[in-house]
Amino acid sequence: MNKFICGVLVLVLSLSFGFAYAQEQPVEAIGESSNAVKWSFPISPLEINSEYYLVISEDNLLSEDYEPQTLAKAPNSLRATSADAFMDETALLALTELITAAKAVREYTYTSLDKKGEQVEDSISYEEEGMLLYIKSGYRKYGTQKTVYANYLAKNDNVDNGAVEKPGASEHQSGLCADVVNGDYASRSTLTEDFQWTAEAQWLKENCALYGFILRYPEDKVNVTGHAFEPWHLRYVGVNAATYIMENELTLNEFTDMFLSKYEKFIQDGGDVNSVTVKDLNMLPSSYILDVHGDDGDNDVSISF
Ligand SMILES: [Zn+2]
Repeated sequence: MNKFICGVLVLVLSLSFGFAYAQEQPVEAIGESSNAVKWSFPISPLEINSEYYLVISEDNLLSEDYEPQTLAKAPNSLRATSADAFMDETALLALTELITAAKAVREYTYTSLDKKGEQVEDSISYEEEGMLLYIKSGYRKYGTQKTVYANYLAKNDNVDNGAVEKPGASEHQSGLCADVVNGDYASRSTLTEDFQWTAEAQWLKENCALYGFILRYPEDKVNVTGHAFEPWHLRYVGVNAATYIMENELTLNEFTDMFLSKYEKFIQDGGDVNSVTVKDLNMLPSSYILDVHGDDGDNDVSISF
């Protein structure tokens, strides 16, 4: 065997071993796991201050100068109107994957309302293009929300009945959410709760967590969110948190309260956040692992020639 082929073989074997090693033993503990206090929550305590779990509301306003770190422009094919739509880069990538997945749907069974307003099982078939979803609204600047709010007050005799968020109270300023609708609702000037009776809304609810999104303002949690039901408003929180929230029918408000109280108790009991390994987390999409176990997030693979 000549030297070159030998070198290539060793490289291939080393890489295979490296990947096998990475898959079987993906967890490099963050520090030593000698601490007896157990962490029991699907999110690493190191993420306690992550913007992904930030509750934005009238009680927790974003400052006027808050901007998403990385804004990306949605492709024209994804937007509902001719206006440009922007989102946080990671959230947009995830939403693009979600919208792409919807295109693979050819048939969907859902609950619609009949003429008497009663719920009936219905099913819809899609042509070649599949289920089509559009971004109605993404990132919104503080200034834009200020104008929207002022216009709304002017139209509403200066009475704020909660229909439009105050400047700083809109999640849209974070770039982490989007209003996602079907073709019919894409052209409407006002979105209404009836959207919930569409196949698209129900598919979104069923599948959004797979892509890291939650329905931020559920119908039965208005008293918790302090916000009207919005079956089109998706908020990005990452796959782990989204799965936990949607499976347990929580809101982001409840989730962050739980996270904080778990964190506080853990610290109180003498827990060391650096001792929590990925193994300690309950839900482990593989992509998560690389984010937490090293400074640069990479597994070390040695290559020898
Ligand atoms: Zn929205």
